[in-house]
Amino acid sequence: MAASIIEPGNGLQAVNLEGLTLDARIRAAFEFIDGSSARFTAEQIRICEIPAPPFKEQERARYFASRFVELGLQDVHTDSEGNVIGFYRGRLEQPLLVLSAHLDTVFPEGTDVRVRKIGNRLCAPGIADDVSGLAALIGLIQSLNAAELKTRGTIAFVATVGEEGEGNLRGVRHLFSEGKLAGRVSAFVSFDGPGVECITHQALGSRRFRVRLEGPGGHSWGDFGVVNPVHALGRVISRISDYQVPADPRTTYNIGRIEGGESVNVIPQSASLDIDLRSASEFELLRLEEFLIAAVDQAVIDENVLRAASGVKLRSEITMIGDRPSGETPLNAPIVKTAIAASRALGVNPILNRASTDSNIPIKLGVQAITLGAGGVSSDSHRLSEWYDPTGRELGYKRALLTAIGMVGLE
Ligand SMILES: [Zn+2]
Repeated sequence: MAASIIEPGNGLQAVNLEGLTLDARIRAAFEFIDGSSARFTAEQIRICEIPAPPFKEQERARYFASRFVELGLQDVHTDSEGNVIGFYRGRLEQPLLVLSAHLDTVFPEGTDVRVRKIGNRLCAPGIADDVSGLAALIGLIQSLNAAELKTRGTIAFVATVGEEGEGNLRGVRHLFSEGKLAGRVSAFVSFDGPGVECITHQALGSRRFRVRLEGPGGHSWGDFGVVNPVHALGRVISRISDYQVPADPRTTYNIGRIEGGESVNVIPQSASLDIDLRSASEFELLRLEEFLIAAVDQAVIDENVLRAASGVKLRSEITMIGDRPSGETPLNAPIVKTAIAASRALGVNPILNRASTDSNIPIKLGVQAITLGAGGVSSDSHRLSEWYDPTGRELGYKRALLTAIGMVGLE
């Protein structure tokens, strides 16, 4: 088939992605994907077995940097935050599409990350979130290479750090604020987890806080009557757990960790909790946050009043440990339209949804961004029992490839 030029970017209404699936060059890439299942699985296992605890993604990052070089990406480098970046250069610098996945896991150092195979399932912490996304980056580069696809615009492949928990999107934040790509990205795609249906174009906002209460402590018998931070923290928890959230916009809270005290017969000197607040609405998020602050203030006042005779008071401190903006990439943005068209061209009925991912940051900055599943199925994300089944993964890789080509164009 004669190679036709596929225009990138904004002329998307004109781009027929179904037609693109018949293009000989795209078919060559698809054939490579169909024939590479064992290769993709081996890669996924290799990545998973390199531990990447929060704030300790370096070893996995080094692997990605060397892999990017081996696969022929250009200007491969690790930025000052730890993100690994490499370019699949087109004839032009623009449009510049970022394809990314996150290096970090939620699992602490020392977690057994060896992959066990049970039937079709690959079982290991992190195997889907986000090793399936990371493996897809490698698989996509290999597919572009195998079919020798010459693109009009440029694709930057980026393995980010700090997506999970207290990482607070530090990698992608850096990428869009101080990194070399800041101000140059036309569109951003994050591959996070499995699946082929969801197109996450709405960013779920969240705020996370650590509440810490402190008192003088003492002996349970001898000093009885002294303010007790654990008792006060209990009142905070009780108030929060009675908070009535609206059904719509969906709003949630979770006290995920508590800590405090030394021993059963010691009045504790400190107690703390970590709480995660989320809402589809910035307004509801703010309301929830204000409720939390009021609940802490009230609990401290109650404890101080109740134990006033002791002459000592509790101190409270609320620290923000996470802040992810909410927002959305409009449905008529080229990246959303292209991902929808790519899904349909492959017979997939797309589901548009909302989540909290690396895309929150570009969305907040007005850069069109979506998060896609990288194919396959999985369960038990963020648990030691996490598993991934690569069945149907090809569809995820093909959708990703079509979306990318739809955005940067073919020469
Ligand atoms: Zn993830």
